Amino acid sequence: MALTKEHAAARMKGIGGSELATILHKEVAASGDTVYGCPLALYFEKTGIEADYPFPETGIIQRGIVLEPVIADLYKEEKGHTIRTLPHKVSKVNPWEMVSIDRQIVGVEPGPGILECKSVGQQVWYQIKAKGMPLRFVLQVLWGMHILGIQYTWGSVAFLWADGWEYHSFLVERDQTLIDMMAKKVAAFWHLVQAKTPPKKLKYKDPRCQTCRWRSSCQGDDLIQAAGQDLETFEEIETAVDLGPKVLQRMGI
Ligand code: SF4
Repeated sequence: MALTKEHAAARMKGIGGSELATILHKEVAASGDTVYGCPLALYFEKTGIEADYPFPETGIIQRGIVLEPVIADLYKEEKGHTIRTLPHKVSKVNPWEMVSIDRQIVGVEPGPGILECKSVGQQVWYQIKAKGMPLRFVLQVLWGMHILGIQYTWGSVAFLWADGWEYHSFLVERDQTLIDMMAKKVAAFWHLVQAKTPPKKLKYKDPRCQTCRWRSSCQGDDLIQAAGQDLETFEEIETAVDLGPKVLQRMGI
């Protein structure tokens, strides 16, 4: 599913739960979790800098959308809790803080909870089985608790590996120290966005750069060199990094 103009405009107004791991990428990496996002790419998105490449219409995104209600039903079946959808929420105090949770859990002690539904591939599923829930998902649930209020003291992340049809849910308990740290880092990032001060770029060899939507403008020829170190023809390089017209133009090709 493509990112709609409305969705893109809403995302520019603040920071949502799925973006926490990008802002806290160092902490996420230190926990042993995989880091996907880059603060500079997030800054480009929030400041409206046009990307070199369109938002990818990947099967993984589509899979997540289609399976979300299925996973919510599996959770309901597992726990017997009542769940319902909740509209997008924006903090009244800090308007850049926003969240869209997958489901709200109601009618149970110790009060309302947050449910996030995750459809994962085989690799992530086995990582979860080996090491437990990755930090990036914990941060997402804690961000929801932060914005929805102090009455939210718990949440759950439900995972489904659809190919193997294996399911598991994890409990997330409120951790105010972590929430306060997250809120501070998000506020600092948002300050950069408002001041139009970009955060540092990653080293061009970072694997995140090779699939980044701003990779040509941001890393340009450095990225080509990194990708082309062991490659001999432009066809091979093009395959390796999916070079776009801007870089090819810059090279006079
Ligand atoms: S190319 Fe690399 S450093 Fe630049 S925005 Fe993308 S991920 Fe970040």
